[in-house]
Amino acid sequence: MRRPIIAGNWKMYKTPAEAVEFVTRLREATTGLDGVEIVVAPPFPALAPVREVLAGSHIGLAAQNMFWETEGAFTGEVSPVMLAETGCRYVILGHSERRQYFGETDANVNHKVRAALEHGLVPIVCVGESLSEREAGLTEKVVTTQVEQCLAGLSSAAVAGLVIAYEPVWAIGTGRTASPDDAQEVNARIRELIGSLFGADAAALVRIQYGGSVKPDNTRELMSRPDIDGALVGGASLKVESFAGIVRGCEEAAKI
Ligand code: PEP
Repeated sequence: MRRPIIAGNWKMYKTPAEAVEFVTRLREATTGLDGVEIVVAPPFPALAPVREVLAGSHIGLAAQNMFWETEGAFTGEVSPVMLAETGCRYVILGHSERRQYFGETDANVNHKVRAALEHGLVPIVCVGESLSEREAGLTEKVVTTQVEQCLAGLSSAAVAGLVIAYEPVWAIGTGRTASPDDAQEVNARIRELIGSLFGADAAALVRIQYGGSVKPDNTRELMSRPDIDGALVGGASLKVESFAGIVRGCEEAAKI
C-alpha cells in the first residue's frame, strides 16, 4: 500500500520568521493526521529554522531545487550534501518554473536526481505538458519522454522509492485543475511506463502525485483515484487552513 504524500511547494514566499510561524501552526493543525505524509518545501534561507520547529514532528522537510555537485565554484548553487545536513529528506526537481525560467532540461534533472539519491535525498520529480502540447494531443508523448529521460540509468530499487509529481503546466497557479479522470489517466500511464522500464515492483511502489491548483474542495475527488498518491501544492500550501484542509481531504479519500 502506498502512503499518500502531500507536499507544499512554497516557491519564493515566506521569510524565515514567517516560515517558523507557519510551521508552528501547521504542526498543531495537522496533529493526528497520520494516514498522509506531510512535507513542506520552504525557500533555502528558511530550511534550518523550519527544521528546528519540525524536529520530532510528523512533518518532513524538502528543498525546492539543488545542484548536482557536492561542492565547488558554482556561485549561487546549493549541494545535496548541504541539504541533507540541513535536515531535508526530499528535494523537488524539475519543477516547470525551473524549466521555464532557468532553462532546466530533462538531462539536468536526471543529473540532479542521481546526485540526490547518492546523498540520501528523495527526489520529487516533476513532469507535465504545456497547454499547447495538451491541445495538440501530445500529453502522453511529452510525459513519457520526460519520465524516460529524468529517470534514465536509475535502478528499479531507486525508482521504487521516488516521488513523481504529474503537474500539467497549464494547471499550475492558474486555478484550472485537471479533472480527476484526466489526472488519473496520466498518472496510470506513468505507472505503466515505470512498470515497463523498471519492473512491476517499482511500478507498485513509486508514489505519483498530482499537482496543479489543488485546493481543499477538489482534493478528495482527486485523491480518491487509484493512481494519485498525494499532491504537490503551490498556492494553497501558503495558508495553514487550506494546506491542512488538503491534508484532511487526502486522508479522508485514502480511507474510502
Ligand atoms: C506547484 O507549484 O507545484 C503547484 C502545483 O502550484 P499551484 O498549486 O499553485 O497550482
